[in-house]
Amino acid sequence: MTPTIGILGGGQLARMMALAGYPLGFNFVFFDPKETACAGQVGRLISADYDNEIAIEEFCQQVDLVTLDFENVPVDTLRNIAKKKPVFPSPDILAIAQDRLLEKQFCHSINVPTAEFEPINGLSELKFAAKKFGFSAILKTRRMGYDGKGQYLIKNEQDLTQIPGNLFEKDLILEQLVPFEREVSVIVARSQSGDIKTWPLCENKHKEGILTTTMVPAKPNDLDATAFEYAIKMAESLQYVGVMVIEFFQTKDQVLVNEFAPRVHNSGHWTIEGAHTSQFENHLRAGLDLPLGDTGMDGMAAMLNWIGAFPDQLHHLTDVGLYWHVYGKQPKPGRKIGHATLTAPDPQQLHDKILQLVNRLGVQL
Ligand code: AMP
Repeated sequence: MTPTIGILGGGQLARMMALAGYPLGFNFVFFDPKETACAGQVGRLISADYDNEIAIEEFCQQVDLVTLDFENVPVDTLRNIAKKKPVFPSPDILAIAQDRLLEKQFCHSINVPTAEFEPINGLSELKFAAKKFGFSAILKTRRMGYDGKGQYLIKNEQDLTQIPGNLFEKDLILEQLVPFEREVSVIVARSQSGDIKTWPLCENKHKEGILTTTMVPAKPNDLDATAFEYAIKMAESLQYVGVMVIEFFQTKDQVLVNEFAPRVHNSGHWTIEGAHTSQFENHLRAGLDLPLGDTGMDGMAAMLNWIGAFPDQLHHLTDVGLYWHVYGKQPKPGRKIGHATLTAPDPQQLHDKILQLVNRLGVQL
């Protein structure tokens, strides 16, 4: 079997999917509005806007099935493609994942809890809801937000005056601030036949809304089983095909969904070297309805993101259990341009390895 898989979005996720699929004999074609999209360095890239029907037609003719590396691909584009080629995940799921309000309503419809929220239309609704949440809230755009973009912390009445007026032209949602003890994510793969696998729980740290590190497995906690239960319930209720990643807030006594990604995810990059099968390979296997690979791991893994710049010494460090990934993207402040994965047999050795690396590189996590 030598299927050609089309990927909408040609970023690092598409690139890592292809790098996982080539050893299995799969081919790839990427579609991205940016001519410089980094997946283009490892396969054919069609560069055009997502609403360019001629280019989408050309893309469809070259592929056997289609998936995405970016959840803000217009749903209409995916619906249009779905008339011609199988797509995974489905356009209906994409529509839910693109809208923080629909996403939360979906969770509640299957009794999976999220942070308290209110849809917001205008400043007076915002004032009312902010008061209701005791001025401990985050205002977010419902759509097109990622990595903390389009988010405003509201801690007092004064903060309301800092919101740019034109933000109210967008659909908004106010979320109560969750006093979480940690953030974790569950990576789930579900195949067309309904086979489901999850990887060990990931513990994630963010800085200014951007993921900086992931440690796996997360330190065991009584609530972990609940996070897995919710994640599987979500994947099954959606009849999901492929990898999806659910980000959770874990408080003292609750696990609340923050959001889900209808795709492979940054908190799953460690699976390339840290797990028996990577999230990228199982995403492809799921879409092709092949058996899913084992998602277990030996020991522990940590993933460190490189955001905006690379350590100069990158090519000089060759420690056992240290793996570099450079995405081929132009460095720019706030942009994810690569990551490193560290593996070790136990928590103490992993901790020592991270400290050593960080000290040698002179970086702060
Ligand atoms: P998001 O883009 O919604 O994933 O938000 C980025 C990061 O902001 C999250 O990973 C959290 O660290 C923080 N954050 C977002 N929403 C909330 C919330 N309701 N309560 C507490 N922290 C939040």
